[in-house]
Amino acid sequence: MSNRLAATPNDLRAFWMPFTANRQFKQNPRMFVKAKDMHFTAADGRKVLDATAGLWCVNAGHCRPKIVKAIQDQAAELDYAPAFQMGHPGAFELANRIVDIAPEGLGHVFYTNSGSESVDTALKIALAYHRAKGDGARFRLIGRERGYHGVNFGGISVGGIVANRKMFGTLLTGVDHMRHTHDLEKNRFTRGLPAHGAELADDLERIALLHDPSTVAAVIIEPVAGSTGVLLPPKGYLERVRAICDKYGILLIFDEVITGYGRLGAPFAAQYFGVTPDIITTAKGLTNGVIPMGAVIVKNAIHDAFMNGPEHAIEFFHGYTYSGNPIASAAGIATLATYREENLFERAAELSAYWDNAIHSLGDAPHVIDTRAIGLVGAIELQPIAGQPTKRAFSAFVRAFEKGLLIRTTGDIIALSPPLIVTKKQIDEIVSVLRDVLSEVQ
Ligand code: PLP
Repeated sequence: MSNRLAATPNDLRAFWMPFTANRQFKQNPRMFVKAKDMHFTAADGRKVLDATAGLWCVNAGHCRPKIVKAIQDQAAELDYAPAFQMGHPGAFELANRIVDIAPEGLGHVFYTNSGSESVDTALKIALAYHRAKGDGARFRLIGRERGYHGVNFGGISVGGIVANRKMFGTLLTGVDHMRHTHDLEKNRFTRGLPAHGAELADDLERIALLHDPSTVAAVIIEPVAGSTGVLLPPKGYLERVRAICDKYGILLIFDEVITGYGRLGAPFAAQYFGVTPDIITTAKGLTNGVIPMGAVIVKNAIHDAFMNGPEHAIEFFHGYTYSGNPIASAAGIATLATYREENLFERAAELSAYWDNAIHSLGDAPHVIDTRAIGLVGAIELQPIAGQPTKRAFSAFVRAFEKGLLIRTTGDIIALSPPLIVTKKQIDEIVSVLRDVLSEVQ
């Protein structure tokens, strides 16, 4: 007889967990069963303070009433509508609301279901745009070392996290990478943007000239690199990248899957830094993480370049069964309304000075070799244990969870990004638990 019948809901073997140490987890599972506002409830009933907005996505906090109701109502009214050659009002309404908060001139939205899909969609839009303009020799894509652009083949090709690339063959061809901007020797413990490193933007020009700039379609960067451990752009760096793109006709894609929807205290990092890209990739905070959805926001001229040929013909051969799904759209509309009604982006901006002080106050805690903060994002970089990279930070993660605090670690860096509803008292709690954790881990 199949042992399927023996499987109980508590059998942990079948689920192969993503980006997880599966064997470690299944020996000592960390399960959440409920969430509300700033807290999860663990399976043993303990409250766990969410210092990571889930995975950088629950920007309005958990189980917010307006979003919950919108999803419930939409599921009962129109559960699904075909995404190709048919529409429904919610997808159009949400696109308008996204454009309302997007930088001037980015007036069109293409829906996806995740950040990874947003990235691959943006890369395809960039290539197809040049071709639509009769500039099809622009086929090269440029990313950056340590960049995280999701896990699909386009994203890992332009991405620069070695562990995410090395197992997967040749990836996309025609891709090159700028150097990353992380320079601890020069910028350690900087408050605000690092003073050193703007000249690293010139890598873009060097790479473009190496290949001939007329072959380069686009460059993609995270304005603040998140998943690699919160790397802030050096002062003047983004402006310089923008200027080089303008000089050579290269499209600039900002991957704002983390920085979008208020994380820095502005709708997008583009507005925070005053640098406008040609395409913005988003996901996560768009629906408060509640329903999978991503959105690629493009400049009008890019969209318009596709709008030619016979009117009955499809202009862009791309899309997903769930692009603009009704329930996801409803979640998105309710999420943006929650941000607006509760002034959460402004709240993040106001809290950011307090947050900055809190994060940097951990500079003298054991093992800490750097602290970084911007908006409501923070990083505490630890000295790795010799010969055992990631172990110290992972121990800190497990210890913090035991103490009722959810943090995220990447390499030996602790990354923090609480929901934008976090209070000063909760920020103090995050710092105080972390200080204890850091004094306890080896
Ligand atoms: N791009 C960036 C900048 C991200 O931070 C992430 C996820 O963390 C992604 C893309 C991928 O998003 P997803 O996991 O929704 O595919």
